[in-house]
Amino acid sequence: MLRSEFDQWFANKAVEAGATLVSNIRVEDLLWKEKKVAGIVAGEDKIEANVVIAADGAVSFMSEKAGLKRFYVKQFALGMKEIIELPEKTIEDRFNLTNGAGAAQLFVGQCTKKIPGGGFIYTNRTSLSVGIVVYIDRLIEKKIDSHEIISEFNENPVVAELIKGGKILEYSAHVIPETSRSKLFRDGMLVVGDAGGLVVNNGITLRGMDMAIASGAAAAEAVKKAMEKNDFSNECLSHYEDLLKKDFVLKDIDTFSRAPEFLQNHRLYALYPEIACRLFHNLTAVDGAKKRVFDEILKVTKGNRTKMILDSIRGLRAL
Ligand SMILES: Cc1cc2nc3c(=O)[nH]c(=O)nc-3n(C[C@H](O)[C@H](O)[C@H](O)COP(=O)(O)OP(=O)(O)OC[C@H]3O[C@@H](n4cnc5c(N)ncnc54)[C@H](O)[C@@H]3O)c2cc1C
Repeated sequence: MLRSEFDQWFANKAVEAGATLVSNIRVEDLLWKEKKVAGIVAGEDKIEANVVIAADGAVSFMSEKAGLKRFYVKQFALGMKEIIELPEKTIEDRFNLTNGAGAAQLFVGQCTKKIPGGGFIYTNRTSLSVGIVVYIDRLIEKKIDSHEIISEFNENPVVAELIKGGKILEYSAHVIPETSRSKLFRDGMLVVGDAGGLVVNNGITLRGMDMAIASGAAAAEAVKKAMEKNDFSNECLSHYEDLLKKDFVLKDIDTFSRAPEFLQNHRLYALYPEIACRLFHNLTAVDGAKKRVFDEILKVTKGNRTKMILDSIRGLRAL
């Protein structure tokens, strides 16, 4: 899905349903009345409201100002993505696609210089989404320039061949709240989407859009109920969290609650890809030596088997 097209379409749907859309205005602060959130401040404007729904993304200053969240750099990953335009036929040929099918390729290991994260390529009809996700604290720790990582990824022979001749239509960098959860409600305020840390990364898929949409819908339900009762207190707005618990949002986050910690294990990005490469290299090299798969596995895993067994158990529990 191309966000530049989808977001505009979706915003228009809200306008058609009666919402007023005000874009290109930065919300700077919250209004308060008797320790309750009572509206927002944007430039010279002060807009009062019974409820403010903070949907201001991963680095949600509004939820921080409301005392619902504190930031630690360890909780965030950085996602960088390019949309690269190519003719439909070229994409079908390069990815071996027919009948309108699409493809997704994931990369792990050297593409992030062995720090936790990974690379991805998704096909769209006439473009590719190509990108990298990496943990920000590890970038800082290893003094790696984020731009360097995506450039090197694009230059990798496998990737370079797939994107050859393409034109970059969009480039974006976006923070992902991997483990940055916020409290989701207080008097006069609800927090939805990335602002509340409502994302699930299980190492294969990164889900945040469905969570943002579903939490937005649940927030609307909760506000509707609050309006019927004319009660915008913490207690009444807690209905929002009940709705998220009943729906897939908090259920899925709970199911994968161990995933972020497991996915920060550096062995997944350095040792294990190296072992896999060594194994396949040894098995496919025709050099006269007798090779049994089991013997080769024992050879390449020597000294690391206990760690591998423990990590496998952790992985099965987390994912
Ligand atoms: C590289 C990458 C790949 C991803 N892939 C997927 C995927 O395949 N599937 C999926 O489901 N999710 C994916 N995600 C996650 C997904 O993009 C997010 O979870 C989703 O966009 C969250 O929506 P949101 O509305 O909560 O926040 P955002 O989309 O971040 O929107 C927040 C908006 O608030 C605005 N804003 C912020 N502060 C203020 C302020 N003070 N005043 C006014 N406006 C403000 C921002 O400008 C922004 O427009 C991906 C993320 C990245 C980085």
